[in-house]
This record gives sequence, structure tokens and C-alpha cells, in this order.
Amino acid sequence: MGSFALVPLRGRPLLRLQVLRSERVAPHYQRVTVGGDAITGFTASGWGQWLRLVLPSANPSSLDDLPDRVTPLQRLRYLTLDRDERPVLRDYAVRRFRPIGRQGPELDIDFVLHGTDAPASAWAQSCGPGDRLAAVDEGQAFDRSRGSDHVLLVADETGVPTVAGVLASLPEDATGTAVLEVPSIDDAGELDHPPGVELVWLSRDEDDPPGRVALETAETVVFDRSRVHAFVAGEQSLARRLRRHLLSREVPRVRISAAGYWRRAR
Ligand SMILES: Cc1cc2nc3c(=O)[nH]c(=O)nc-3n(C[C@H](O)[C@H](O)[C@H](O)COP(=O)(O)OP(=O)(O)OC[C@H]3O[C@@H](n4cnc5c(N)ncnc54)[C@H](O)[C@@H]3O)c2cc1C
Repeated sequence: MGSFALVPLRGRPLLRLQVLRSERVAPHYQRVTVGGDAITGFTASGWGQWLRLVLPSANPSSLDDLPDRVTPLQRLRYLTLDRDERPVLRDYAVRRFRPIGRQGPELDIDFVLHGTDAPASAWAQSCGPGDRLAAVDEGQAFDRSRGSDHVLLVADETGVPTVAGVLASLPEDATGTAVLEVPSIDDAGELDHPPGVELVWLSRDEDDPPGRVALETAETVVFDRSRVHAFVAGEQSLARRLRRHLLSREVPRVRISAAGYWRRAR
């Protein structure tokens, strides 16, 4: 996502943020709340809005020399920097934005904890108040023009924060189903959602490949294929297989949005 070709030539503003607090909200989720002076430049737009985060690498000065705007040229320059020296770029959803929070405007990001060898997951576990990061607003993940009154939303744990944002943005009379797979049932949380959208939380066994339970369940969901907008966010094979299944059920291609959020090492 966030393809190079879509970056406007004048670039997007880079927000310099800081960690306000960090809290383990579920066995596999660390909620990092960020803010700081520059957050006044952030506009919440809902619909699964997401950010390209700029996190520190092992090099403590990796965030010292950031530009004010991210242009295509700067993206190219970034690629020429030494991997261990340059900042870490990763994509994360805006889980919640509070214009008036405990410490001014605040934004929550829910990081899936999947080990300490992975830079973003490790950073989320170790960061503390005052730590620096930066972010570029990449816009809404859910394209309303494909339909928002009848939905099939499917996610693994990485897509749950996006789907939470979509559910909170849907019209009150929307109908449909959200299939949400998490590693442990204790990772399931309270989500605001229209009453006509059923939430189905699923957990998997340790040996199950991520996304399989969500795929099998989503394949059994009954929906009106003449008007459904199917939105899938999760491990690459979940997105790929569910797209294929939906096409085989004659859901029009333009009403299937399926994004691979990460790729399992095989
Ligand atoms: C638009 C968008 C929004 C996203 N929103 C969120 C979000 O809100 N919360 C969130 O947690 N993730 C989210 N993701 C997914 C997240 O960007 C990836 O999981 C990312 O790879 C994590 O970076 P890392 O540095 O922790 O691991 P990486 O360095 O990227 O990967 C290291 C290793 O870990 C594996 N890996 C990566 N992610 C996972 C995982 N979740 N579980 C198990 N193994 C993994 C990789 O296969 C690789 O082998 C989003 C992705 C996109 C595209």
C-alpha cells in the first residue's frame, strides 16, 4: 500500500510525534499513545485511516535528520541509506484519535506483538514516554465509493485496528458481518459498530497458520452479492484466497478490496 506513484510530487507532511504512554491492552496488543506539538497538524478522517510510521533503528540518531515533507525524491534517497542506519518505516492504522485527551490531542496505535526480532513489534514493547517517532498520513484504507451500506469485513490481528476504524465510520443502518481472527480470544475487544453488522471473533490454535480460520469462516458468510463491499486486511494468503473465493461467488471485482498487511515467513 502507499505506492510510490501515488505520492504527490510536493510530498506529504511528516509529523514529528512523541510517545505519551504505552500499555499492554491484550495478550498480543500493545497500545502506544502518541502526541506532541505536531499532532495539531493531523486530521482524523476515519474509515480505517493509516499511517506510515517512521521509527528509530538501532542507530540512536536515525531520526535526527528528517525532512518536513516526504517527496518521491526523498523516498528514493532513503533507499540508498544503510539498512541498519536508516529509520524503520512500517504501516499502522489509527486505532483512535482524541482531539481532547489526557495530554492534549492523542492518537492510539495498536501494535501486534509478534516478537522482539521485528523492529516495529520490538519498539512497541520497549518505547516509553518522550520517545520520538514520526508519521505520514496515508489516508483511508476503506474506499466508500465501493459501497458502505452492506459489508463483509475480514481481518486477522493486524487488520483488526483498521476494521475497528471502518466499523466506527459506517452508517448506523449498515448491515453485514465482520470476521475477526486473533491469536487468543482474550485479544478480542469492544468495538463500536452499527447494530446490523454482526461481529464474529475467532481465535486460532497455535499450529494454525494465521488467517486460515478467518478464511474458512468468511467463506460461509451469507451476504447479498449484488451490493456487498468485501474488505479484507491481513496476512497475504488470506487476502489472496478470499479475493479468489469472492470472485468465484460472482462478487464484482470493483467491490472487493483485499490487502496483504504482512507476509508470513515460509
Ligand atoms: C495499511 C496497513 C495497516 C496496518 N495496520 C497495522 C496495525 O494497526 N497493527 C499492526 O500490528 N499491524 C498493522 N499492519 C501490519 C504491519 O505493518 C506488519 O505486520 C509489519 O510487518 C510489522 O513490522 P515489524 O517491524 O514488527 O516486522 P517486520 O520486520 O516487517 O517482519 C519481521 C518478521 O515478522 C513477520 N511478521 C510481520 N508481521 C507479523 C505479525 N503481525 N505476526 C507474525 N509475524 C509477523 C514477517 O513475516 C517477518 O518474517 C498494517 C499493515 C498495513 C499495510
